[in-house]
This record gives sequence, C-alpha cells and structure tokens, in this order.
Amino acid sequence: MLIAGNWKMFKGPVEAGDFCRALRDAALPDDVDVVVAPPYVSLAPAVQALAGTEIGVFAQNCHWEGEGAFTGEVSAPMLHELGVYGAIVGHSERRQLFGETDATVAQRCRAALAGGLNVIACVGETLEQREAGETDAVLRRQVSVLEADDNLVIAYEPIWAIGTGKTATPALAQQAHETIKSLLDLPVLYGGSVKPDNAAELLAQPAIDGALVGGASLDVESFAAICRCGSRS
Ligand code: PEP
Repeated sequence: MLIAGNWKMFKGPVEAGDFCRALRDAALPDDVDVVVAPPYVSLAPAVQALAGTEIGVFAQNCHWEGEGAFTGEVSAPMLHELGVYGAIVGHSERRQLFGETDATVAQRCRAALAGGLNVIACVGETLEQREAGETDAVLRRQVSVLEADDNLVIAYEPIWAIGTGKTATPALAQQAHETIKSLLDLPVLYGGSVKPDNAAELLAQPAIDGALVGGASLDVESFAAICRCGSRS
C-alpha cells in the first residue's frame, strides 16, 4: 500500500520543512509506504527533514534528458543527487495545462526510471470521455506507452474527480484499475478527491493499491489519517 501526497504548487521551502517535521512525528502505520511530492524549490528542505525516515520525497515531474538547453526543466540525475526518491509523471494538470502528451510522458517515465528514480505515472479520462464511453480506450492509449518496471506504479486519476470533491465510487475505481492491470501488471493508485472519510472504502477495493492525494495531503492530520486508512493491521 502506497499513499502519496501531491502538493501541486503549494508550500514553499519553509512551510515544506515544517510540514515534513510534523509528518515525521505523526503516527503513521508501518505497513504503508508514504511519500510526499513538494514543488521543486521545496524538495531540499523536505529531503532534509525526512532524512533517516521511511517517508520518501518525490518530484512532480522530471525531464527526459540528463542536462541541456531545456529552460525550466529538471532532470532525473539532478533529482537523484538531491536525495529525491521518485517522480510523478503525466499528471493530468501537466497534460491539460502544459501540453504533455503520451509521448512526452513515456519519455519522462523512461528517463526517471533509468536515472534511479521511482515513478508514479498518472492516467485518467475526462468527464466528456467517460460520458462518451471512451474510458477504456483512453486508458488503453495512455497505458500502452508505458513499460512494466519494478519501480513504476500507475495512478488512475479520473480528471472529473481531481480537486472537484467528486470521488469515483469504489466500484467504478475498481473497474478502471482492473482494466489498467489487465494492460500492465503493476500496482495502481487511485487519485481524485481522496479524503479521510472516503479513503478506507476506496483502499479496501482489491485492485486499489494505494492513493495519490492532492488537496487532503496539504494538512498533516488529514494526510496521516488517510495513511492510517491504508493499513491492513
Ligand atoms: C491530484 O492532484 O493528484 C489529486 C488527486 O488531487 P485531489 O486529491 O485534490 O483531487
């Protein structure tokens, strides 16, 4: 079970350090892997604050080249050198707002894995695609560019459920996760308005291997509560 907090563009370096020190002291279950994904500028204080703990720090993206003329980008070797443990790739906000495509997501994913990072690769359909009956086709297309790897997990994040307060029903999420697993036999996290009060039911589904949490990961108590919902003990 993996619970990952995607902070998006929230928490600068000072707030990130404070948050991570509080998280370090929070009661987290031993049988749940916990990671946080701060903005780039807050990675170093997060890594420092969580040194010596089991909590990993992820970046929210990662470029496919090691270095070069790519203004605004950060590479896997740079993240690795900083002590960062992994990277999210293909988040729907990257796909929708910053022109990421299946091809660039695949390149980023491959480079991050090759650079020694763990990867959470995000997939998911829009409301329009779901209503048009295209969910399976969209998932197939997005997953088809990825290759199985021990350090790769997929996050199923229906776009209509991200930051909207609308959560997929556990049955609907289970079905999408089964589709993804039939394409690539990897752990699949659910993401989309996961909160302390709906996490247990979602995480109880057999094909749901964890959660990628946005808004509710910004508060230590609510994030820790979601982590506790993932415990099997
Ligand atoms: C996310 O950003 O990956 C996400 C799932 O956000 P939220 O939990 O706020 O819907």
